[in-house]
Amino acid sequence: MTLMLDHPVAVTRFRAFGPRQIDDIAGRYGLRPDLREEIALLAHVFPFRVNEYVLDHLIDWTRPEEDPMFRLVFPQRGMLSAEDEQALAAVVHSGSAAREVAAVVARIRAGLNPHPSGQREYNVPMHRGERLPGLQHKYRETVLYFPTQGQSCHSYCTYCFRWAQFVGDPALRFATPGPDRLVDYLRDHPEVSDVLVTGGDPMIMSTERLRGHLEPLLDVPTVQTVRIGTKSLAYWPQRYVSDADSDELLRLFGRIIAAGKQVAVMAHFTHPCELRTPLVATALRRIRSTGAVIYCQAPMVSHVNDQADVWAELWRAELAAGAVPYYMFVERDTGPYDYFKVPLARAVEIFHAAYRTLPGLARTVRGPVMSTTSGKVVVDGVESHPDGRCFQLRMLQARNPALVGRPFRAQYHTGAAWLSELELAADVPDDIRTAVRS
Ligand SMILES: *Cc1c(COP(=O)(O)O)cnc(C)c1O
Ligand code: SF4
Repeated sequence: MTLMLDHPVAVTRFRAFGPRQIDDIAGRYGLRPDLREEIALLAHVFPFRVNEYVLDHLIDWTRPEEDPMFRLVFPQRGMLSAEDEQALAAVVHSGSAAREVAAVVARIRAGLNPHPSGQREYNVPMHRGERLPGLQHKYRETVLYFPTQGQSCHSYCTYCFRWAQFVGDPALRFATPGPDRLVDYLRDHPEVSDVLVTGGDPMIMSTERLRGHLEPLLDVPTVQTVRIGTKSLAYWPQRYVSDADSDELLRLFGRIIAAGKQVAVMAHFTHPCELRTPLVATALRRIRSTGAVIYCQAPMVSHVNDQADVWAELWRAELAAGAVPYYMFVERDTGPYDYFKVPLARAVEIFHAAYRTLPGLARTVRGPVMSTTSGKVVVDGVESHPDGRCFQLRMLQARNPALVGRPFRAQYHTGAAWLSELELAADVPDDIRTAVRS
């Protein structure tokens, strides 16, 4: 494939900036000393990683504190409780031994619910008498696959629900069995039509590595779609344009499609400014030219994108780029949850205010969606009912296929931000009640 560039692209090699480069970043971008100190302090607890593309093209450095992209990648005041932040500052500034700092950090992290909804224990399939960590099979037709080398990202989101993986919690670093075991599993499970390759971000891998994981899937006739969950279009669109193996990557997509399978790039876009650079436009166009389809999803989070006009612009920009708006998620109960959570009542209002303004082709999006232990639950709206105001809810995906599509209700609550905080209506059938409360 030839490069189809309609503008010159400065070729930058990927380089990650972590906690050790905070001073470097502060110097280059003119970060105020108080912000620099705050970030350096919080980076003891939260994963921090960013790169030049995000720093140069996505952040408005004239007003970083109000900038949604700055808030998306830099840890900030409010993400820790006041007590935890004080305890952390005390031990860091006292000149204590690294061991003592580590003990305080570990205690704070343990209090941040690092493993929400049993991410780790549930849905790991058994196959021929063995557990297959690195795979998750929750919904009949889709298997999640976490390649070991894909468990990092081009930059980290402050709201990430997989944050514990990135701070080196060994229990969360999946030892993936590799594509051979995946293929064996898929051969014994012909009901699986979709393999969702996820991470971290699988696009952090070289094309050669990625090919090693994806090509074996071509020999499994029952697999129809290879989905790739990635934030690389937002954080490093160079992956599809100017990296040394970008052309190889597009050829890999093309080969999968030529073999009769679909490639679905499940793109994580949080804010419309991620879609405004010429590089991302080129990346989107190049991916589409292979025949792959781009679906877009993101959570709604406070301080970053909890506004109707932001979502309306995001979904329009996705549609304009030939991508499909897919899911708006509700933020999970982990990490700096109190800082990022949005009450369901507000989330559904924002969703509808944005949705109403969309052209029909962008109304493919569904939300706000909670991904729970038993399934995906969407808040369809709020209704007045003889028993009082209610949330209208619906199972979009369920471990038990008999529940898919079924509507149910819960009492309206202005502050509730997750299904577990809602009281289900008296008429909710037992099978749904049991699933939702499991
Ligand atoms: C969301 C999700 C899927 C995919 O569901 P679709 O509705 O088909 O996009 C698969 N597995 C898990 C665990 C999920 O959370
Ligand atoms: S890109 Fe995804 S996995 Fe990576 S930090 Fe952001 S939310 Fe987490």
